[in-house]
Amino acid sequence: MELIFEKSCPGRRASTIPKSDVPEVSVEEVIDKHLLRGDVDLPEVGEIDLVRHYTALSRRNFGVDVGFYPLGSCTMKYNPKINEDVARLAGFTFLHPYSPTEFSQGNLQIIYELQRYLSEIFGMAEFTMQPAAGAHGELAGIMLVKKYFDKKGEKRSKILIPDAAHGTNPASGAHCGYQAVTVSSNSEGGVDIGHLRELMTEDVAGLMLTNPNTLGLFERNIEEVAEIIHAKGGFLYCDGANANAFMGKTRPGDLGFDVIQLNLHKTFSTPHGCGGPGSGPVGVVKRLVPYLPIPRIMKVDNRYKWNYDCPDSIGRVKAFYGNFNVMVKAYAYLRTLGPEGLKKTSDIAVLNANYIKERLKSFYDLPFDRICMHECVFSGRRQVKESGVHTSDIAKRLLDYGFHPPTIYFPLIVPEAIMIEPGETENKETLDAFCDAMISIAKEAKKTPDLVKSAPFTTPVKRLDEVTAARKPDVCWYQK
Ligand SMILES: *Cc1c(COP(=O)(O)O)cnc(C)c1O
Repeated sequence: MELIFEKSCPGRRASTIPKSDVPEVSVEEVIDKHLLRGDVDLPEVGEIDLVRHYTALSRRNFGVDVGFYPLGSCTMKYNPKINEDVARLAGFTFLHPYSPTEFSQGNLQIIYELQRYLSEIFGMAEFTMQPAAGAHGELAGIMLVKKYFDKKGEKRSKILIPDAAHGTNPASGAHCGYQAVTVSSNSEGGVDIGHLRELMTEDVAGLMLTNPNTLGLFERNIEEVAEIIHAKGGFLYCDGANANAFMGKTRPGDLGFDVIQLNLHKTFSTPHGCGGPGSGPVGVVKRLVPYLPIPRIMKVDNRYKWNYDCPDSIGRVKAFYGNFNVMVKAYAYLRTLGPEGLKKTSDIAVLNANYIKERLKSFYDLPFDRICMHECVFSGRRQVKESGVHTSDIAKRLLDYGFHPPTIYFPLIVPEAIMIEPGETENKETLDAFCDAMISIAKEAKKTPDLVKSAPFTTPVKRLDEVTAARKPDVCWYQK
């Protein structure tokens, strides 16, 4: 496909403006010279060329509204459009964040009530809605832990992270100045308790645990893990990015977790990808409440207000109050589902993943053959051994069958990992079509491995040089 710059023809315009009826002045007279660049090469095209160019590009895109998108850990599920409609109401989108609270009571009520709902669902004392994404929530959560120890005058230098963890966990710990120490997994895919006991000392601020973990497995020894951490005065942190596996079923607060971040843009109805906006609320137990970011929302005499008077707070972690529109969608989603609907959502997310696991397990290696939660993790090592077909080849071949590939090569502890998360919104026909495609590819890998290794055949671009694209991005060729 031609680039818009290649379609450019000098003098063409996508719009016409009426002749000016005021005296003309040159740009140089009104704009500072150092702000002007003479070499800006902009495409000149007619309106219809412009519309067709971008429409054609948009039709090459793949998203949840186009097809099945089983990206493990990312929860690329379909979200009801009613939540988008609600979030777009003018009173939500156009209210200025500096509007006096007298004029924004309804919006404040949403933030307040959403915090209360999340606290109840996850068993925490209080939530902050400020962080803008999951990783940002992790950072804020660990900052709270650090502030707690600083305030008590305790020096702790390490944070424990299981080897199955999402890469953002060690990054968040390190960003707060902690040394990230890896805890091994056991043969069941859970935390190795012996190793944890060995590592947990009074120099450790806590353990960051994803539950269900990135193998899609629920931590069986969670209460014992909590006991070990708490016995040495540490905090148990829950990466709750994948909460759609257990909502309404169990509460992290009851299991012994002290801090949790959620990803509203995964679990609670905001479509994501391409950088946002997201929302990563953080919930805490009582002893961490004084450190939460400011301002904190309060309800006094039936009025909602912002409270800035929190002397121990870590301060702000985001401009204003967080990504409000994402909160509106989450609020609408929770109010539509209700407690029973929330439970059912988790039931179906888990059922769908187990259905796929059972249908595929005789065709792909399943390193941890247990009932899974919202996702299942296969390994392509059998295909590598039998015919030299790698997981990346299987993923590319899936594109020819019209599916977005699952997450691959993560978690790192599974060789040739294929991590499938169907979500709760797909019907059985879609799950079956996907399984049929995966089975068909497993057979192709045996009979015609070269075909799989050359895929895809039907996409606008074939195999990309991903490493060079990441290391040496070439984003402005036209100026050369
Ligand atoms: C997605 C995810 C994150 C990071 O969330 P972002 O919103 O992308 O920053 C962290 N942990 C887990 C387990 C995740 O799945």
